[in-house]
Amino acid sequence: MQVSSIVFASRIQRFRLPRVCVAVVGEDASNIIDRAESLVRDNPFMEFRLDYLANPAAGLPKLKHFLDLHPEATVIATCRRVVNGGKFKGSAAAQLDILTKAAATGFQLVDIELQSAEILKSGELAQLKDRVGVILSFHDFKATKRLEETFAAMKQYPADFYKVVSTATSLYDNVQMMKFVQAHSAQHEMVGLCMGEQGIISRVLGVRAGSVFTFAAATRGEETAPGQVTAGELRDTYRIEMVDAATQVYGVAGDPVSHSLSPIMMNAAFRRETVNAVFLALHAKTMKDLMACVPDIPIRGLSITMPYKQDIVHSLSNSDALTKQVGACNTVVRGQEGKLYGFNTDVAGVVVPLEQRIALQGAKVLVVGAGGVARAAVFGLKNKGAEVFIVNRTPEKAQALAKATKAKYLKRADVAKASFDVIINATPLGMGSNRQSPLEDKELNTKFLFDLVYVPAETKLMKMARAKGIQVIPGLEMFVQQGARQFEIWSGKPAPIAEMSFVVSKALERLAAGSVEVEEAPPPNKPQPRAEEKAAPKPKPSAKPAVKAAARKATKPAAKPAKKAAKKPAKR
Ligand code: NAP
Repeated sequence: MQVSSIVFASRIQRFRLPRVCVAVVGEDASNIIDRAESLVRDNPFMEFRLDYLANPAAGLPKLKHFLDLHPEATVIATCRRVVNGGKFKGSAAAQLDILTKAAATGFQLVDIELQSAEILKSGELAQLKDRVGVILSFHDFKATKRLEETFAAMKQYPADFYKVVSTATSLYDNVQMMKFVQAHSAQHEMVGLCMGEQGIISRVLGVRAGSVFTFAAATRGEETAPGQVTAGELRDTYRIEMVDAATQVYGVAGDPVSHSLSPIMMNAAFRRETVNAVFLALHAKTMKDLMACVPDIPIRGLSITMPYKQDIVHSLSNSDALTKQVGACNTVVRGQEGKLYGFNTDVAGVVVPLEQRIALQGAKVLVVGAGGVARAAVFGLKNKGAEVFIVNRTPEKAQALAKATKAKYLKRADVAKASFDVIINATPLGMGSNRQSPLEDKELNTKFLFDLVYVPAETKLMKMARAKGIQVIPGLEMFVQQGARQFEIWSGKPAPIAEMSFVVSKALERLAAGSVEVEEAPPPNKPQPRAEEKAAPKPKPSAKPAVKAAARKATKPAAKPAKKAAKKPAKR
């Protein structure tokens, strides 16, 4: 088949098209129309998945009614065959017939796979293209590979848009995809993205590399491809309509990382302070993968979370005194020359909320736990002159930390006999659906309890403390304070702490109500299911409540100190 040159009409379409196309699915045409009616105002660019209908051709007259009523909408008709990951059981010829009818119905664009184009008779695709805008697509549900080879095959066929969708099995696959799109976007109208949880970079930054648009789900639970995010998230959290060549890229890197509320918090901060930046969740399965992406994307700053807080130290050119003291780094800045500089803001995350309430000099503080966060807490508290005690499930670890920090080791049996100004929970007990408490009621002899767990907003330990009249500091405050310091390091502006606290509180409320699925971090060694390993996309069942705890009550106390803190210039 001959390659047709890019027609003028498609050039116009390119500049007319919004950046986000929302995939609409339904069991029947009425269902699709109902969904489309509720979406069209905010999402005038949609894809109707005709292959989800039992009889796609029979549904077209009803869909025509919607298209006639909404001339402002641009709608793609897609009838993906089963062999290519869709639900349409018919042949390529039957698919062509439906897409031709869809063109007559008023759809402005149709999507047809390379594999179907290869089966069709010579000239049939060109005839379809004479009637309607054609998106020639290719999907790889397993990997990101042979992109150039695939595109060479695709270019043999006439199309208005060439869409290549692969699956990211590493963060670097996003870089490959964006380089590929960039290489061809001057000559062709390209759409390129990676599926899978690790594909979020290409979904947000693909448009910067030259992808004309990207795809999104209408809501959680209506995804038509693994790793698809919602249109609301793309627009509101990631501000995709604003992403341009000057947009600075930041991210939280860890494994797992899908549970992180950092993207919600940091993107809200960037928006509030009008910083042209976007913050992504980077699921790095290895440090090597992460480090390969940093110069190529390029990433300007990283928030480092488990399990890389210690490992990252070896990749830093220099670091602040706290990183050196604690031996862990949670904040990275990439300098203009490409070198990485490390900071530790976890310490401030623990210390600042306490200092807003009590003088730490001489305060008696019990830290429960001897892991990474406990280490940051103990160093920070000792630096402020507090008398610090450490208790831990594994006594040897507590003893080692106490020795390294000149704190005191406390046997678990002695906790109930002592009293403190502050008790800090630095264990995961109480996190997610874990309903345990690290201490018993009789061991809670303290004025303040600071539970560093922040999902859910109200833990069993916090409830026990409130019942005893102990003042509770929620883990949300640490989360916000460490993030605030990060924001200041990256942007040089004071952090909008009240805004950051508000969006995280709201996210926790939605989480408790079950409308947001934020996965819990699994216990160490328990592998996460990998979305990108799914053979083909299936719509997920509606998001189920991950955590049922009543967050409403719990998030209120957090709002006050955060507002207070917002008035004060943020301390470093
Ligand atoms: P970590 O390095 O894995 O340390 C976990 C600590 O908890 C260890 O001392 C461990 O004891 C103890 N522990 C684990 N499971 C336990 C159990 N079943 N019973 C008793 N003790 C147990 O984790 P981390 O990075 O320090 O994080 C700890 C928690 O802090 C996280 O789970 C998270 O909820 C919270 N956190 C909050 C924020 C925030 O911004 N609010 C930030 C980071 C972390 P052993 O030594 O005996 O293993």
